[in-house]
Amino acid sequence: MSHEPRLDALVQRADDLFRDQALASVADWKARTGGLAVGFLPIYVPRELLHAQGVLPVGVMGGRPELEIIKGDAFYQSYICHLPRSTIELGLNGAYAPLDGLIFPAICDVIRNLSGMWQMLFPDVLVHYLDVPQNFDPAIGGTFYRRDLEALAAALEARGARPLTGEALSRSIALYNENRRLVRELYDLRRREPWKVPTHELYVFLRAALLVPVEESTPMFAEYLALVSADGSRRPQDQARVLVAGSFCEQPPLALIKTLERAGCYIVDDDFVQVHRFIRSDIPVDGDPLQRLVDAFLTDAVASPTRYIADEVKGADLERRIAESGAEGVLFCAPSFCDPALLDQPMAVRAAERAAIPWTAFKYAENSGQFQVIREQAGTFSDSIKLWSAT
Ligand code: SF4
Repeated sequence: MSHEPRLDALVQRADDLFRDQALASVADWKARTGGLAVGFLPIYVPRELLHAQGVLPVGVMGGRPELEIIKGDAFYQSYICHLPRSTIELGLNGAYAPLDGLIFPAICDVIRNLSGMWQMLFPDVLVHYLDVPQNFDPAIGGTFYRRDLEALAAALEARGARPLTGEALSRSIALYNENRRLVRELYDLRRREPWKVPTHELYVFLRAALLVPVEESTPMFAEYLALVSADGSRRPQDQARVLVAGSFCEQPPLALIKTLERAGCYIVDDDFVQVHRFIRSDIPVDGDPLQRLVDAFLTDAVASPTRYIADEVKGADLERRIAESGAEGVLFCAPSFCDPALLDQPMAVRAAERAAIPWTAFKYAENSGQFQVIREQAGTFSDSIKLWSAT
């Protein structure tokens, strides 16, 4: 039997999860297990800790383009990104009713303010501001972050979660290591043979995996990887290889990703749904597992614009990614009014120029609906790469 019917069914399952804005899959899980489900905003939370306490971590990634914002706009000025508006809208319209709480990792002032609004709007659910350190000295930032994680574990326990134990946390770290390894393998395969892993498809799997337990998302990634690796019907096309940078928090509409691909771009590296790749390598499972989580954040996290590390380090990281992905161009694709992304862009532009590859930039909102201008810009960009690389 051909692989394709199974692949089609798997993609359909991921797509159904991705479109399930009312979190029916989360409500099902709670009904089956009686466990707590706690959402988290982009970019990173240590999902292992929640899992070890029997809690389902649920990615809260903003709204889909068709979501009509009626109340959310009243909470924010016009010069603020779109993600918090849709989050408020979804909260107020009941879409997050299955969630017993929400974790707001320190990303920017917008998320900090949103955590305060959430406390006022939804006083009955857990609201935890995860104040990740900006000092990476283990004795300072490490001690601070460990206390923050202990406070999170205690807050979850107070809501009815299991107490955190080292044994359970080690098991959870091992499960997430396997999950992250599969995501890395998918990214590696896309770098080698981007026609086998179209980004609009991969993206849907990354989003779907935020809505189901790791025990379900790992086999989903594994089967997808096996099926696309073996699928000989996906043939190379004459596309330009581009790295898409800047889309780490508010996510672009799926139609925008499809537009870039249809405009002649193979996306060979990106910042989408970064929680899956925020920690770069396996977290050791020996020793004190809570300290292992802390150390991973301090020493093995990506060079995110939301981390206060030196510009040279971030620039060097982008150059490394350009080299490793074989990107022929960089698309700076950031949400409108996203300070962390836009403040880092000049530094990233210098990195692209040092790598001697062309770049272009545009902005989006998660509810953008018109892509003709972006299609023309990305199409011209990919055409020019093809023309230059041919000379
Ligand atoms: S999109 Fe940018 S500005 Fe908006 S919440 Fe995320 S990091 Fe902050």
